[in-house]
Amino acid sequence: MIPYRFIVIVGCGRLGSILANQLSRRGRNVVVVDRDPSAFDNLSTEFSGFRVTGDAAELAVLREAKIDEADCLLAVTRHDNVNLMVAQVGKALFDVPKVVARVFDPSRVALYHEFDIETISPTQVSADMFLEALQPAAKEGQP
Ligand code: AMP
Repeated sequence: MIPYRFIVIVGCGRLGSILANQLSRRGRNVVVVDRDPSAFDNLSTEFSGFRVTGDAAELAVLREAKIDEADCLLAVTRHDNVNLMVAQVGKALFDVPKVVARVFDPSRVALYHEFDIETISPTQVSADMFLEALQPAAKEGQP
C-alpha cells in the first residue's frame, strides 16, 4: 500500500514513465516534469496525471508542477546533479515529506544522506543483482 496521494515525478524517461504509469494506475495524483516534451510519449494512454514541460532546475517549473502540494517527490532524471538539486529544493523549500532521488554514482550516496534525502542507486542495485545471478540456484527444500 502506497500512502502518498500527490506525487511529483521529475524526469519522464525510461524510469520516470514506468513510475508515473504505475502510480497513476493505482489511483494516485501524478505530475510528471520533463524538459523534453517527447518524453511524455512514454506515458500510457491510461495515464491520468498532468505533464509539465520545463527544466526542473528552475523553481518556476517545480511550482507549476505544484510541488508545494506534493507529499512525495521522485527525482529520476539521468543527471545526479539535477536530482540532488531538485530533491534538496523539495525537502528544504517545500517540506515535501517523502523525497527519493535516483543516483547513478554510488560514491555520492553519503552526500545525499547528509541532506536527509533517500536514494536509490541503479548502479548499486544492478551490481547486487549481477552478483545474485552468479550464486548457484538454491536447491528445493534448502534454505
Ligand atoms: P531516462 O534516463 O531514460 O530515465 O530519462 C531521464 C529523463 O530525464 C529524460 O527524459 C530527460 O529529458 C529528463 N531530464 C534530464 N534533465 C532534466 C531536467 N533538468 N529537467 C527535466 N527533465 C530532465
